[in-house]
Amino acid sequence: MTAVLVVNSGSSSFKYQLIEMSTETTLASGLVERIGELMGQSSHTVASGSTDTAASVRETATTERELPIPDHTAGFAVMLEAFRDHGPSLDDHAPVAVGHRVVHGGARFHEPTVVTEAVERDIDELAGLAPLHNPGALQGITAAIEAFASVPHVAVFDTAFHQTLPPEAFTYAINADLAERFRVRRYGFHGTSHSFVSRAGADFLGRPVEDLNQIVLHLGNGGSVCAVRAGRSVETSMGMTPLEGLVMGTRSGDIDPGVLFHLHRKAGLDIDDLDALLNRGSGLLGLTGRGDLRDVVTAADSGDGPSQLALDVYVHRLKGYVGSYYAQLGHVDVITFTAGVGENSALIRGRALAGLEALGIIIDAERNEARTRGPRRISTDDSAVTVLVIPTNEELEIARQTLSKVG
Ligand code: AMP
Repeated sequence: MTAVLVVNSGSSSFKYQLIEMSTETTLASGLVERIGELMGQSSHTVASGSTDTAASVRETATTERELPIPDHTAGFAVMLEAFRDHGPSLDDHAPVAVGHRVVHGGARFHEPTVVTEAVERDIDELAGLAPLHNPGALQGITAAIEAFASVPHVAVFDTAFHQTLPPEAFTYAINADLAERFRVRRYGFHGTSHSFVSRAGADFLGRPVEDLNQIVLHLGNGGSVCAVRAGRSVETSMGMTPLEGLVMGTRSGDIDPGVLFHLHRKAGLDIDDLDALLNRGSGLLGLTGRGDLRDVVTAADSGDGPSQLALDVYVHRLKGYVGSYYAQLGHVDVITFTAGVGENSALIRGRALAGLEALGIIIDAERNEARTRGPRRISTDDSAVTVLVIPTNEELEIARQTLSKVG
């Protein structure tokens, strides 16, 4: 038995999963949230019964609590109590390591890294590039080290998979000295998911990942596209921050920076207003008042003009990226949809790849509409490019990378 605990920590909450690595099954998962507020919340879900990996056939039991959780250290105490009271026993399933999701690893971290004091200082220092994410991750790491002092802790970075981007893909065409001084370049995100999904795609086809050129479309509340050549990220749509690229739930994605100068000069928006506008008040939400794609689809179906336009804009941007990355790769073997929208919306999948028969991309309408839990093919048998839907599993990827790091 070899268990790994995966922690994904933000500034006021953290999620965890205890994964048994011999079967790659989740033994328990949970969420501790509203840390630092008057009243905190926790939930702990224990999987039992069958060891089948399909969540639907595994019995689960969830317990919830409400209590003040002043800081992350208190949050880990709540988590340990949940394991003690509801199982599984951490004596029987003691984690051999703890894997931590860290959003920004800058140009410094290109692989999973065992946390030392120097690594903690580096993550802290990178908070300048990811002020909304890295501080919370660090709080989680510090508290987890107190709670699990005798095992190694490994930081797995969202940016790491994209450290193979060539300079022409990661360089912005701005003043080079300024860019270097302030580390302005493209880093890319969702790397853990792109890594997992591109490997799972090769496994599904029974082909070595080294033989494949792939385009991965991670479409969730945030979204990004990645071109993967021989298992290595060579281009991706998010940039220095997770704002660049696709139309997302609340983020604009690509926009002419001149719009910002214009809104500053003419509408009087200051830098914080613009940050909030583009990160939290744009994308589907900005276009329709609804940030969840399901709601936008429902409204569009009932004739709401702005929602119909929002879907058109969403799909237009996505298709543009597919074409761009097709050209960058020169030859594409596999296109894979993943994450909330990619795994669930036949509408978006079908529209994003419609009319691309001349590129060898042919969707089978019936396969696209079918719903299964595992990976599946949605292209026709004679489509030159294989199109797949693969559920992402970032926690499992973090656990795998953590275990591979600690041996
Ligand atoms: P994620 O960030 O991966 O959890 O994905 C969240 C997004 O997936 C939300 O915007 C949801 O609207 C979207 N989503 C989930 N299920 C569906 C569905 N059946 N159809 C369309 N979008 C969906």
